[in-house]
Amino acid sequence: MAILEICTYPQKVLLERAELITDIDQEVAKLAGQMAETMYNAPGIGLAANQVGVARRLIVADAAPRTLESNLVVLANPEIIAAEGEVTSEEGCLSVPDCQAEVKRYEKIAVRGLDLRGEEVVIEADGLLAIVLQHEIDHLNGVLFIDHISRLKRDLFKRRLRKNMAKREA
Ligand SMILES: [Zn+2]
Repeated sequence: MAILEICTYPQKVLLERAELITDIDQEVAKLAGQMAETMYNAPGIGLAANQVGVARRLIVADAAPRTLESNLVVLANPEIIAAEGEVTSEEGCLSVPDCQAEVKRYEKIAVRGLDLRGEEVVIEADGLLAIVLQHEIDHLNGVLFIDHISRLKRDLFKRRLRKNMAKREA
């Protein structure tokens, strides 16, 4: 196992649509394990494959990472098949460091995807897990949480992120 490097805005892999996974093979299982380890280490509650530089449709999430029982969700090719309600909460992102903003999401969702055995699963989620799953599925479509906020605030964040990056590269 290994901790992977997390890509940050404005790296291109975060802004593009990730590819469908056609085969759940050893490589996908290994990537999922490394993504989970990277997420817990960060620490974070969700991670999409393109956040670690892999443009494939794979996400991991754990909305209760501090409980003893593992609540780890791993899904390939996740898609929202039903949604209801509306909830606004503060979000952040490992790929958009030092930025938080209120984002409006569906309150409850049903997500269909493939597990690591390649079997179709449907996860019904509400609360924090519903928000995390929407955030991660957005990633696979090249969408960041800052794309959901006001343009003014987004521009402010983007300027800040570019400045931080310039500082790191200097
Ligand atoms: Zn994120």
